[in-house]
Amino acid sequence: MFLTLTIFSYYIINSVNSYLNKNEQVDALATANMIASLTNERNYISTDTKSVAPGFEIFLSETLKIPSGTRVIITNNQAEIIFDSFNIGTNQGAVQSTKSVITALQGKEGSEILKNEHNKTLIDVAVPIQDTMDKSKTAGAVNVQYTTDSHEKIIAPLTKDIIIVFIVITFIIGLFIFIVANLITKRIVDFTKKMTEMSDGVLDERLEIKGHDEVARLGEAFNTMSDKLVMLEQKRADFVSDASHELRTPLSSIKLMSDSILQTPDIDMEFVKEFLKDMNTEVDRLNRIVEKLLYLTKLDNIKSENINLDMEFIDVREVVMDIVKNLTPLAEAKNIEINSSYCESLYIMANNDKLWQGIYNIIDNAIKYTPDNGKVVIGITKSENNAIIAVQDNGIGIGEEEIEKIFDRFYRVDKARARETGGTGLGLAIALESIEMIGGSIDVSSKLDEGSTFTISIPLYVEN
Ligand code: ADP
Repeated sequence: MFLTLTIFSYYIINSVNSYLNKNEQVDALATANMIASLTNERNYISTDTKSVAPGFEIFLSETLKIPSGTRVIITNNQAEIIFDSFNIGTNQGAVQSTKSVITALQGKEGSEILKNEHNKTLIDVAVPIQDTMDKSKTAGAVNVQYTTDSHEKIIAPLTKDIIIVFIVITFIIGLFIFIVANLITKRIVDFTKKMTEMSDGVLDERLEIKGHDEVARLGEAFNTMSDKLVMLEQKRADFVSDASHELRTPLSSIKLMSDSILQTPDIDMEFVKEFLKDMNTEVDRLNRIVEKLLYLTKLDNIKSENINLDMEFIDVREVVMDIVKNLTPLAEAKNIEINSSYCESLYIMANNDKLWQGIYNIIDNAIKYTPDNGKVVIGITKSENNAIIAVQDNGIGIGEEEIEKIFDRFYRVDKARARETGGTGLGLAIALESIEMIGGSIDVSSKLDEGSTFTISIPLYVEN
């Protein structure tokens, strides 16, 4: 703002100054032309062009009313002074070789703006005097000089006024900027305070939003982030509490059984073996939970750090067949029939491990949650751009209100039954996250006591 005002003021003062100087030059040239033509007309220059006729000085001051402050110099065509109103008779013959006079002797109007010894603006103009005999020739020049006081009279007061306006504007705008900046900074200071509190662990801080400017938008973004952090923190806390609970149950059983062994004197070896077998089952269970938790942590890391997965060109059909082969002993143990209908090879671009985890957990569940002698039907089909893997069982099914919760970590419909089946409540969470990670989705439809159908769809590989 300061710079703009300075440039602007300089520009105004300079323009006014040059306008005034131009005007003075025009006036001076008019005076010089008048003197030149009348000097000629009245033959004031002697024939030897060394002097002017007597009475020229009176002619200038009385007839032409040239003010005494204006210096009139008449030169001959050799630039020798033949009249100087400031030095009558003293510098006759001296050569006046100023730029304006030289221009005038070449037949043109010359003019210059100079500074005199008192640093005042000096208007210096000169015009040619025509030769009375030969009009094409120049007999000499009329040089008019005077100092102008336009600077003192106009420029100085104007500069003073501009400086006053300048100061007033600077003050008003400065004050305005100060107030606005203070208002903005105050909000930013508030924000910073809240953010610092948040970094100290108070996650549910909210900022008070005023207005619709950038700072308000920053505040809204902060509030959204704060909401998400609170939600994430809640999820984290729930997860830790669920995980601890899940780990505590088998640990408590193990502790209870080992205590009984230790505290029973003369314990029967058969009894010990029985307890050790149970303890072994609990340790397996602990192992399964820890393994699955570690796998979920790995998935979380991939998501939060945006890690690129190794993608491969995979035939879905082969993967499903492989998984079915793996799970057949489990199905046979329960006398469950696995019916598979596979279409032709369907190729996708995916991470093999994630695809495996997704499909494996779904088929494993179908076998786990189907009573003995039940049936599991697996179908692979192609729909538009997706490979569809449908896993249908005629097992225990899932109640309508439970369906949306089954993908949550540690959620199990029937906790007591889960202990029997060895369920951890993490299988479907892993399945969904794995399938979503490779761009797919899982749908469920189920009816209690009738069975469930889990449908996995994964985008097919499209050649570009
Ligand atoms: P779990 O390790 O207990 O099987 P999951 O996350 O795989 O954990 O499944 C969550 C819950 O969803 C299970 O405890 C079970 O109650 C229900 N569930 C999953 N698949 C089926 C299915 N095919 N039929 C009936 N219930 C199922």
